[in-house]
Amino acid sequence: MSLLLGRRSLFPRRLNIPFFLRTFSSSRPTFSKLEGISETPQERQLPEHAVISTFDLFSIGVGPSSSHTVGPMRAGKIFITDLKELQLLKKVATVKINLYGSLAATGKGHHTPQAILLGLEGSDPETIIPTTIESRYNNILANKVLLLGGDHLIHYDMDRDMLWRWDQVLPTHPNGMRFSAFDEDGDLLATNEYYSVGGGFVVNDKTQVDENLFYKGVDKSVVPPARLHQTHSLTEPTLNSPSLEPSSSSRPSQHNDDTIPDAEAGPPHPFESGNSLLALTQRHNMTIAQIVYDNEKSFGYSDEDIHKKIFRIWSVMDECIQTGVTTNATTLPGRLGLRRRAPILYRRLMRGFYPGVMSPPSNNARIEADSNPSETFGGLIDAPKSRGEKFYQTKQGSSFETMGARIVDPAIPSAKRAPRVIGAFDHPLLPEPPRKTMIPAVDFLSCYAIAVNEVNASGGRIVTSPTNGAAGVIPAVLKYIIEFVSDDPDKSIMTFLLTASAIGMLFKRGSTISAAEGGCQAEVGVACSMAAGGFAACMVSSPETVLQAAEIGIEHNLGLTCDPIDGLVQVPCIERNSLGAVKAVTAAQLSLASHGVYSVTLDEAIEAMRLTASDMSVKYKETSLSGLATTVKIPLTVPAW
Ligand code: SF4
Repeated sequence: MSLLLGRRSLFPRRLNIPFFLRTFSSSRPTFSKLEGISETPQERQLPEHAVISTFDLFSIGVGPSSSHTVGPMRAGKIFITDLKELQLLKKVATVKINLYGSLAATGKGHHTPQAILLGLEGSDPETIIPTTIESRYNNILANKVLLLGGDHLIHYDMDRDMLWRWDQVLPTHPNGMRFSAFDEDGDLLATNEYYSVGGGFVVNDKTQVDENLFYKGVDKSVVPPARLHQTHSLTEPTLNSPSLEPSSSSRPSQHNDDTIPDAEAGPPHPFESGNSLLALTQRHNMTIAQIVYDNEKSFGYSDEDIHKKIFRIWSVMDECIQTGVTTNATTLPGRLGLRRRAPILYRRLMRGFYPGVMSPPSNNARIEADSNPSETFGGLIDAPKSRGEKFYQTKQGSSFETMGARIVDPAIPSAKRAPRVIGAFDHPLLPEPPRKTMIPAVDFLSCYAIAVNEVNASGGRIVTSPTNGAAGVIPAVLKYIIEFVSDDPDKSIMTFLLTASAIGMLFKRGSTISAAEGGCQAEVGVACSMAAGGFAACMVSSPETVLQAAEIGIEHNLGLTCDPIDGLVQVPCIERNSLGAVKAVTAAQLSLASHGVYSVTLDEAIEAMRLTASDMSVKYKETSLSGLATTVKIPLTVPAW
């Protein structure tokens, strides 16, 4: 059995390391040693399939980062849970935390210290109340105490006990942490290293075979083995297989709540690549979403569980958009003082999807010099209006009863000012007059994506999809489908998320979803690909077209670097999600219009991404050591206000 992660890590691995009681090693590789690393072909030939649970890929957590916030919080909780199990917790007098590589380089801006310390206090990313994080963290710093596991108080001095090894990298992954617990005499009780490998997944050398469980603290003794390992069913169908004829008789009969497949056998439809996934859809005459759905049942979920969990994910995504567009807060945390734009964009769109919800006061988000949102009717989105226009609420019971209808009132004279034209009028080429630049699909997608990422940047509740930095792309595209495309939203939500999940699994296995390994192509690039596939699937397109949409989605993100300014998940991250969402829809549209004519497969693009990630300088892998992180001065040359 391989001890690898069910994914092709871009970094060399160290195996057979004892779990506890490790001592520090004095020699560490530096950043420069990691540049240009690539694996041998033998190392890439991994036997594991790509199938993990959709509910491990899409997990509910807090912002701003899946690898730097969600993962470290889980790691802290895992460490404490193990100390409890070993009955060592009460003996602990001091905890030392070492952060390595990217975690050290951008951890402050990504709230890594808060995450680890609250994880050590027993908190979990899914259940922690985001608004309590700051006050609890400040309390730890001010009082120099840490309540380990929620019931064992120790002295904790941030300056003394957290060490930032930004110029050192642990061999397994650039997002490394080492936690060590000491007793009153200063003797080492236990130590362990954890790696936050992207998307909130946490592994160490002990947990590499069951990463999908361990980071969630699930009791491994009571779950189906399929969720523990990815080494089952190594023979997969191929497109050349003679048994590819669609056959309803070959369909497993798993479609009732009482029937859960033999968990020992692993997922019924294992796939390792886009090619093998496509073969499965052809063999069983199923969609990609149906393949994933049946696989979920091998993880112990009933039909009802799957529906509940999918709609829970969507409801958190949707609430996130709603929070982002209706917040009264004007700026994001951090020294950039960045202005929130989602409320402004939403108001500009002049319509709302949340009945009865008021948009923020106009002084927070004024978009036109002559707009006066206070003149709108109660409960309506106070969209900007120009002179000569009034807003009327339509009659109760109509399909637009909660929305304002914009009507031009002829009784009010329109006193339009002459538009200001910029440029010389005594030139052979006259300047263009100002025009309204509403492109509704683009504007809605941007608004949704930016809303989610502003919530993420402020440490709010978020669905890691597949990471936090890229958490806006998938909700934005799905929201657009629900509001403007689908005539059966419930089915579209299922189809979209399960399809996107399959594509995310392929990236996790074949390349990476960690910016510290692959730059932003691993975050926004992967999210774009997943959303493109999900969008195409909701257009009733063939699995081949879906995979082609996903291919286009990543192909045009290859090489995308990660260079967040000041280590904050704000610039370029927030806008980049908006571009990712627009690009995803464009990719799907291109695929739908291509009638099966294409030249690059998804598998080839995923491999290209892996190679590109290998060759990419570590300066562009979530370290803020180059790119915008170094060219943009703080305070910003272009004011955020
Ligand atoms: S630049 Fe991309 S990968 Fe880097 S933190 Fe921002 S969203 Fe994440």
